[in-house]
Parts: sequence; structure tokens; C-alpha cells
Amino acid sequence: MTLLSIVIPCYNEEEVIGETMRRLGAFCDGVQGLAVELIFVDDGSRDRTRDLLRGYATDDARIQVVGFARNFGHQIAVTAGIDAARGDAVVLIDADLQDPPEVVHEMVAKWREGYDVVYGTRTERPGESAFKLATARGFYRLLNRLSDVPIPLDTGDFRLMSRAVVDALKAMPERDRFVRGMVSWVGFRQTALPYRRAERFAGTSKYPLRKMLRFATDGILSFSIKPLQVSITLGLLAAALSMAGIAYALFLRIFTSIWVEGWTALMIAVLFIGGVQLICVGILGEYVGRIYNEVKRRPLYVVQEHIGALPHPAPRAPCP
Ligand code: UDP
Ligand code: MG
Repeated sequence: MTLLSIVIPCYNEEEVIGETMRRLGAFCDGVQGLAVELIFVDDGSRDRTRDLLRGYATDDARIQVVGFARNFGHQIAVTAGIDAARGDAVVLIDADLQDPPEVVHEMVAKWREGYDVVYGTRTERPGESAFKLATARGFYRLLNRLSDVPIPLDTGDFRLMSRAVVDALKAMPERDRFVRGMVSWVGFRQTALPYRRAERFAGTSKYPLRKMLRFATDGILSFSIKPLQVSITLGLLAAALSMAGIAYALFLRIFTSIWVEGWTALMIAVLFIGGVQLICVGILGEYVGRIYNEVKRRPLYVVQEHIGALPHPAPRAPCP
């Protein structure tokens, strides 16, 4: 029988997990012609999430829990879920019920029509702060200008992927993972499914500003080297301005007697070039840091326990 894997990353979600279980259970009961496995990835929660999940997994053979040894972050949790999934298709869904499980029925229908990726596009996002909406909007548009791979606008990780796509994804060993971009990069037949994003069922967002900024930087730096190119442009611009400044200074020095003045110009030039240099070195540093992370070749995550159906997922083969 065709198997559908649903991957649910959870971090400190004790307040929502019961309701999530109920809604997903209803989905499993309502789905036709498919077996469903639920893979919860507990991303090092410090509340009762792990215990609750353990209880569900002991009661129900369809449920597995991959318990991380610490908090590795949402994108890594999703990756671990994908690694553990055995389904012919894999669905990624948030634990907080912002992505309604009922929409997965429509995703499955599209998959049966022959699409390999069905990604949810948010038509509405009630309950999100104006700040989050505005920054998200700006971010996706900026990302698309910078990246060579078109990444759909206003699209999160809520999506269905066929086995072919999942296998392609598993062959991408990179550390800084921006899963939605990686799925776009893979190709195959992809289609959008507009849906109304609900409010978080309970609890608070697990994406504080710091994590959001990190995530946005990962998205841009993993999918574009344009910032490096921009730093060259900035450097050239600064150099051109400096040449003009130097010519001006020499002119004053040789042909006039007012050359002692110009301290202001000197300061401006020094500060300006210093600033541009720091920016460029910083951009360079971000990429070098990422190379450093890659060459360390650490595993992407550490599994403390795997509860339910499968033994530990095979560790990812180190890339050659
Ligand atoms: N999440 C996670 N690890 C983290 C942060 C979040 O696994 O370090 C999970 C979280 O439990 C939720 C999903 O990722 O299921 C999305 O997080 P959240 O709803 O807090 O983000 P938001 O919807 O506010 O962007
Ligand atoms: Mg959420």
C-alpha cells in the first residue's frame, strides 16, 4: 500500500501537541487508499513535549519520535524527519497547527495528478505581527532578486514531496539548510496550493528575531553569491571616490596654499573606506565561516532516542 509520511518538527510544544495529535489522527482516519506514518522530531524540547510524544508512540504503531540530544533548529529537525521517512511521499507540517492538516488531502490529490512537489502558499496569515508580515514579504522578494533559483513567494515549509524529490534532497549534505530553497533547486513538477494559514493554536512562536535573522541570512547566503559581487562593486565605488579625493588633495597641495585644511575630507575618506572594507570583509567572513562549517563534516544532528517503528535512521554518509 502507498505510504505517506508526515514530518512534524516540535520544539517546546507541550501546549499544542495534544490537539495536533487529535487533528492528525482525524486526518489519518479520513484519508483513503493510503497508509500514514507520523514522524515527530523533538528538537531538544525542555518541556513535556518528549514525554507526551513518547506516550503517543507507545500507544500507536503509526507514530515515531526522533528525539534530538539538544535543540538543533527547525530546518535540521525537518531534515531528520525526511531522513527517517519511508513514505512514497513526505509531508512537512508545523506542530502548532498553523498549517491545517486538512489541506494535506488536497496536496495528496495534486500528487496523484502527477505533481512531485505541492507547496502551500499562504493567502492569509492572521495573528502574525505586522512586523513579521512586512519582513517576510521583503525577505522573499529580496531572496528572489539575489538567487538564481526561483523560490516561490510567501511559501513556508508546508509541502508534499514525492519520493524522487526526497531522495534528491537527501543527497544534498549541506549544513546551512534552507529547505524550501533546496526543494526549489531540485526541480521536477512543482505546483502551488493556496491555503489560509491559521493562527498558532497555543503557545508562542519558537522563532525569535535572532533565529529569524539567522534563517534569512542562511537563505540568502546559501542560494546566492551576489553579496560577494556587491562587495566588489562597493569596493570599486569606494576606490573611484578615493581616486577623486586623492586627485583633489594633490591639487590643493601643489597649486594652492590651503592644503592644511581638508582635514574633514581626510576623515571622511578614512572612515568611508574603513567602513566599506569592514563590510566587505564581513561578507567574506560569512562565507568563509560557512566553508569552515562544511569542512568540519560533523553530522547534521545527534539523535538521543528513536521511539517507535524504526531503529535509528542510518547516519548520513559523509560527503566524499
Ligand atoms: N521548531 C523546531 N525547532 C526550533 C524552532 C521551531 O522544531 O528551534 C518547530 C516548532 O515547534 C514548530 C515549527 O518549527 O512546529 C515552526 O515554528 P514556529 O511555529 O514557532 O514558527 P513561526 O510559525 O512563528 O514562524
Ligand atoms: Mg508557527
